[in-house]
Amino acid sequence: MTPSIDTVRAWIAAAQRVVVLTGAGISTDSGIPDFRGPQGVWTLNPKAEKMSDIRYYTTDPEVRRLSWQSRLAHPAWTARPNAGHAALVALEQRGKLHALVTQNIDGLHQRAGLPPEKVIEVHGTLHYAMCLTCGWRGPMQDVLDRVRAGEEDPPCTECAGILKSDTISFGQPLVPEVIERAMRVAGECDVLLAIGSTLQVYPVAGAVPLAKEAGARVVILNAQATQFDDLADAVLRTHIGEALPYLCGG
Ligand SMILES: [Zn+2]
Repeated sequence: MTPSIDTVRAWIAAAQRVVVLTGAGISTDSGIPDFRGPQGVWTLNPKAEKMSDIRYYTTDPEVRRLSWQSRLAHPAWTARPNAGHAALVALEQRGKLHALVTQNIDGLHQRAGLPPEKVIEVHGTLHYAMCLTCGWRGPMQDVLDRVRAGEEDPPCTECAGILKSDTISFGQPLVPEVIERAMRVAGECDVLLAIGSTLQVYPVAGAVPLAKEAGARVVILNAQATQFDDLADAVLRTHIGEALPYLCGG
């Protein structure tokens, strides 16, 4: 039987270095859909999956035009952090958050008030744009202004190369230094708290067995079962926005 939520709360209260791993499930209460879920954008609109694949993106201008329209309309621009995000800020303010590793690109952890240096965005961020040719990087809103002004597929102003969001698409390599840092902090924590992630995407999912191996307690808070439930010290199926404020509160 899994330990109770009170037991997990006591583990967190006693912990000195908590590492939190978050996935789409923490942002759904903020109105950001889970792209992989049954009601996800990819499931309901197969074209959206093409937009997330670098091979289609670089070869098909129509896919890029649709991608820019999709970025303009992305719910992240108006989304507000929810109680789950706020609870993790409280954890940080208690001096317990060693680092937060997120698969999300919405920037809501920082908007909630987490110091940016504590947030490791393994799949990049929607808040920046980058050039696939010269590596230029700049604020996404500046590029979206060009789209609003009528450029359907704005090229890089430095080299005329293809621009996209600074996120990891399918077929694109992860950033090795970012992944290394995520794995390092996972090996340094005393509690690993995995929230709202199905833990299916590697190498990030590997942070869970890595932390366990290094001696950390592993807590999984997710609506669905994950492959690491058996390895976890506690599995909580409670609603994230209700459970986290209790787990992280002083
Ligand atoms: Zn460029």
